[in-house]
Amino acid sequence: MTVCIFDIKRFAVHDGPGIRTTVFFKGCPLNCWWCHNPEGISPEIEHFTEEIEFDGITLNKELTVGRWIKVNDLMEELEKDRIFMEESGGGVTFSGGEPLMQHEAVFALLKLCSEAGIHTAVDTSGLVSEHILQQATELADLILYDLKSLDDKIHQEFTGVSNKKILNNLEITLKGQARVILRFPMVAGFNDKPADHNQLLAYLEGLENLDQVDILPYHPFGTQKYNRFNKKNRQNGFGIPSKEKINSLRDELINAGFAVNIGG
Ligand code: SF4
Repeated sequence: MTVCIFDIKRFAVHDGPGIRTTVFFKGCPLNCWWCHNPEGISPEIEHFTEEIEFDGITLNKELTVGRWIKVNDLMEELEKDRIFMEESGGGVTFSGGEPLMQHEAVFALLKLCSEAGIHTAVDTSGLVSEHILQQATELADLILYDLKSLDDKIHQEFTGVSNKKILNNLEITLKGQARVILRFPMVAGFNDKPADHNQLLAYLEGLENLDQVDILPYHPFGTQKYNRFNKKNRQNGFGIPSKEKINSLRDELINAGFAVNIGG
């Protein structure tokens, strides 16, 4: 069995507990305007030509994003970092894109990691079939569940999809076996208004089995990728949320009984 990935990040500290190796899968059903991994949205392997200025000369550099790798070979790669995972209480995180778009390979990897005693996390957009999410909660130790906005109109405008299934799936995921951490990407100009946070808080307080929320403040680090990979950059109008707004939401969540991390 093979899987299409576009990156493996070693020594990741924001994708779950401890030091982790994060695998980025190609393909995502959403198309968020602020996405910092735009090269992960298409499920296909992509080819680009990058122009590089060198000593007054313009050079063309061919880039390929994505590669197919056998599940067993990927597992061998992951095993190389075992010492760091064990020492730090870390593990492996499957991210993307949306890793569960390639659920059969992800499930095979989750089983292999479990047999090898490696802690696993799946970072999901939540927009997959219910039965796939249910199975993920049976096989993974941790689900990192991204929720972007409670306002469906805004959600549709800036992610390309409705949030209805995502919200429904969150409630199903919370009934599963894996621990769930909710991740809220906070983007100035999209979801950083007090009304957005009140709506989020009211919704989260009504959920059962959720005890931790990670606030992920937007950063513009991915901006140069839009030029590099010849993608349309729609981030104008978005920005880094203010410290005051981040801290205000953090305090409200803590007062409501949630453990909160900023930055995951
Ligand atoms: S869900 Fe994540 S990977 Fe997919 S488009 Fe949105 S930000 Fe990018």
